[in-house]
Amino acid sequence: MNAPDPKRRRLLQAGLAAALAPLAGCKVPFTAEQGLFNSCLPANPALLDDPIVKAAWEGVRTDRVWDSHAHLFGNGRTKTGIWVSPEFDEPKMPGARLRRMMFANGGCAGTDEARMDLVMIERLKSLMAQMPPGVKVMLLAFDFTYDESGKQRRDLTTFSISNIYAERVAKSDPSRFEWIASVHPYRDDAAEALAQAKANGARAVKWLPPSMGIDLSHAKTRAFYDELRKNRMPLLVHLGEEQAVPGAERHEYANPLHIRHALDRGVRVIAAHCASLGTSPDLDVDRNARKAPEVTNFSLFQRLMADKRYEGFLFGDISAVTQANRADVLPTILATREWHSRLLNGTDYPLPGIMPLFSVSGFVKAGLLDESKVATIRSLRDVNALLFDFVLKRNLRYDGAAFPASVFETRPFFEADHGRA
Ligand SMILES: [Zn+2]
Repeated sequence: MNAPDPKRRRLLQAGLAAALAPLAGCKVPFTAEQGLFNSCLPANPALLDDPIVKAAWEGVRTDRVWDSHAHLFGNGRTKTGIWVSPEFDEPKMPGARLRRMMFANGGCAGTDEARMDLVMIERLKSLMAQMPPGVKVMLLAFDFTYDESGKQRRDLTTFSISNIYAERVAKSDPSRFEWIASVHPYRDDAAEALAQAKANGARAVKWLPPSMGIDLSHAKTRAFYDELRKNRMPLLVHLGEEQAVPGAERHEYANPLHIRHALDRGVRVIAAHCASLGTSPDLDVDRNARKAPEVTNFSLFQRLMADKRYEGFLFGDISAVTQANRADVLPTILATREWHSRLLNGTDYPLPGIMPLFSVSGFVKAGLLDESKVATIRSLRDVNALLFDFVLKRNLRYDGAAFPASVFETRPFFEADHGRA
């Protein structure tokens, strides 16, 4: 996507704070340190050969590097399995229009609406071609909202990526892609859809409970946990506040404590973003949500991680924890060395390409990044958002601790139970 002219740029800047608040969370403002728009540059061999980039791969077994959290998106014009609500696709409010534009720009999906679905994938493939052989990205499907009666509710859905679509894109290049299914547990055919996804090569199931309207303690959800376990499929679940995809807007479903229902049934769970945003009532103090003290979702995730019963079952992904609005949890995640074997890397692509969401100099100020790395890491963003995310995370330090290579070598996690039904 071409960046807009200066006058338009100023107008856009005015609307930016409002637009990005729901995208990034509103506690920490966006940053304009690298401008507003990604220039979406082609591969740059000199940059890929930069000693800082090369050093980031040292000690990493690239054939095990699977990015566990990457989004497919588009506008659905190709009618091949992407559905976008009219409100989101043709927004009336300038803020919402800008948000859509920033998202498309972060993934370098272009401005040709007729080709956006395709260009998004072409760009992703070109980014993957710049990665060492063996590195793969796991593409996420995203189901519609369903209500408790099992009815599909497009009126409560922001967008949907069908399992068939995610599978088809993944299989268009098996050397670079894996895929993760999304099956709403309230669906009448939930068990069949899960078995089908497994048979078609899905490595896990993804949920975004507040947006999809999934009560993690509902009887139908509990029945689905048993299916997950039977199929030996891990659950990648967004815990904590969600603002980018409003959908059903059931914020009470974001409470990390509810995921005990899955853990207690022996499901392996990946908490997306280590539940790093927002607050929830501490239901361990008072089961009445209105009386319970409000605590951070991250502190509830910490409590679950400290529970010995959940070792081997609860994991956290570090996607988006480097975003400006979540970076306050980074020192804790880095310094808690006993977590490191339970962390999985994901990028939350295309978010690393959305310029105002990340502040590279912010990491230097916080003492997490050496100044000498800034220029290279910054220049990676327009060239390859996936590589930017990787090199940045490999260079973060806190209290002598860094993310070990194993955090990026997620393949064994996804293959552990595969095929042993
Ligand atoms: Zn995500």
